[in-house]
Amino acid sequence: MDFAWSEEQQAFRREVIRFAQQELNENLIERDLHEEFSWDAWRKCAKFGIQGLPIPQEYGGGDADMLTTVCGLEALGYGCRDNGLIFSINAHMWTSEIPILKFGTEAQKKKYLPKLVSGEWVGLHAMTEPMSGSDAFSLLSRAERKGDRYVINGSKTFITNAQNAEVIIVFANLDPEKGAAGITAFILDKDTPGFTISKKLHKMGLRTSPMAELSFVDCEVPVENLLGKEGGGQTIFTVSMEWERICIMASHLGAMQRMLETSVKYAKERRQFGQAIGNFPPISTKIADMDIRLETARLVLYKAAWLKSQGKHALREGSIAKAYVADACIQQALDAIQIHGGYGYMTEYQIERELRDAISGKIYSGTTEIQKKIIAGFHGLSDVPSAAPARREQG
Ligand SMILES: Cc1cc2nc3c(=O)[nH]c(=O)nc-3n(C[C@H](O)[C@H](O)[C@H](O)COP(=O)(O)OP(=O)(O)OC[C@H]3O[C@@H](n4cnc5c(N)ncnc54)[C@H](O)[C@@H]3O)c2cc1C
Repeated sequence: MDFAWSEEQQAFRREVIRFAQQELNENLIERDLHEEFSWDAWRKCAKFGIQGLPIPQEYGGGDADMLTTVCGLEALGYGCRDNGLIFSINAHMWTSEIPILKFGTEAQKKKYLPKLVSGEWVGLHAMTEPMSGSDAFSLLSRAERKGDRYVINGSKTFITNAQNAEVIIVFANLDPEKGAAGITAFILDKDTPGFTISKKLHKMGLRTSPMAELSFVDCEVPVENLLGKEGGGQTIFTVSMEWERICIMASHLGAMQRMLETSVKYAKERRQFGQAIGNFPPISTKIADMDIRLETARLVLYKAAWLKSQGKHALREGSIAKAYVADACIQQALDAIQIHGGYGYMTEYQIERELRDAISGKIYSGTTEIQKKIIAGFHGLSDVPSAAPARREQG
């Protein structure tokens, strides 16, 4: 076991933090209020190499292993206060780039990856539907093969990056009689006739990350836009989620560290009853709790990332990390607000936004309840059918 970042990783971490602090935090209070995505920050991140971190160099990426990717995303989460931007970047990487890299044909990789890596194109995946969320594989969207095309019909909801995306990975059932084994993934270009962004959605947090409902009416995609194989959608989704759950939470670690440091500074500066509030045991204990929480969250997440970097599956560990870090980040924000008193509740101090952003961590990429079902499945106790095939994939 080695708990140290290499010198190269440490230098990379410092560089990401410097970049993020200097370039990505402008006008954030206003952008959060008006739900504005920052294209400028998106392009700067792409130029820096964030979107391409784990993608091979031949497609323009940085060829980083999982641990280095986690190191970079944690640093980004620390330096960049725009958790919505980071969420959009993560959705783009894990639900469009990675599925194309892992399951795409060479022609698909050459067509899509360089533009996704360079930030010219934004990607998304559309799985959730009004009637199927946690029970994702019961989706009602349908695909039908007609000659050299597939025709897709259905609707999707809660889709991150919807308004910005050029590349849409959509899941539909090609053979409903087979149930989940009929679910298939397709790459759809945004100009495909019949595809529409049907309704913009407004969120409690992550407000700088766009979200909408999508509608597919007789959308025709050429057979070469099949991603993976017919009926392979379940595996593609599971692999995507395994990456996303670990990497998206890495950025939460950065936010947790930022909240700890902000709280320590405030606890030393703010004086009540003639002394710094940090001298009062209820406050200093909260700081210690925040530190314990951050350290523990790092350990569970690094373990999952280490397994992936060794080429092993980390479905159980990824779910443990997702469930643990999501809760830890929310509690970190609550403690930070409490330490800041009334100021913590005010928009100006930018801590209340951390709480609003953090709450979504218990819902996206599979709710905390579903992560616990997956973990219980490794003990033979899950009642969620989708946890079973996922379990078989574990190496
Ligand atoms: C910020 C954000 C971004 C998102 N981005 C995307 C995206 O880009 N693409 C996409 O496809 N989807 C996206 N989603 C959707 C997300 O994946 C779903 O919201 C999530 O899977 C839960 O589904 P649901 O909202 O329908 O809740 P439901 O499945 O209806 O769950 C409601 C409640 O019941 C619980 N529950 C359900 N089943 C069980 C069970 N068997 N045992 C115990 N408890 C259970 C849940 O945990 C939850 O607490 C996003 C969601 C959010 C909040």
